[in-house]
Amino acid sequence: MNEVINKEQVLDWLDEVKDPEIPVISLIDLGVITNVDITDNKVTVDMTPTFVGCPAMDYMKQDVVDVLTKHGVDNVEVNISFKESWNSNKITDKGRKALHDFGLAPPPKHNLQVDIDILEHVECPNCGSDNTILKTPFGPTACRSIHHCDSCHETFEQFKPL
Ligand SMILES: [Zn+2]
Repeated sequence: MNEVINKEQVLDWLDEVKDPEIPVISLIDLGVITNVDITDNKVTVDMTPTFVGCPAMDYMKQDVVDVLTKHGVDNVEVNISFKESWNSNKITDKGRKALHDFGLAPPPKHNLQVDIDILEHVECPNCGSDNTILKTPFGPTACRSIHHCDSCHETFEQFKPL
């Protein structure tokens, strides 16, 4: 590359990397990409895994490399960082809206204490009612729980708060 790579541009490109299980939300909006450093045209990306046991981390890592390579960045390093653990408060407002539009209840913001109350009475993404019950905290993936809405009688999933 002859041009100097700038960080805003890299962040913009990285917005193309979506969560493999929820293809409407980018790793940026998920709060998974925690740092981007550019030194001498080498791009270093730090990522923090979300749920322990989400098996998609290697896949996401490769996706980051692929997207940047596609845009002509040939020197990419991706580090998986555990310096600061991920929690669902890191999901951006744009990300929350994307989850909602996808039909998944976004995780409520919380003060890092997730108790059963926060899993109950989740707002229904279909009708907005909070007259809902938790069916099971174990959805189709480690990241989701299943709920039922007593107002519109839909069953829906929530991206679990963590
Ligand atoms: Zn409903």
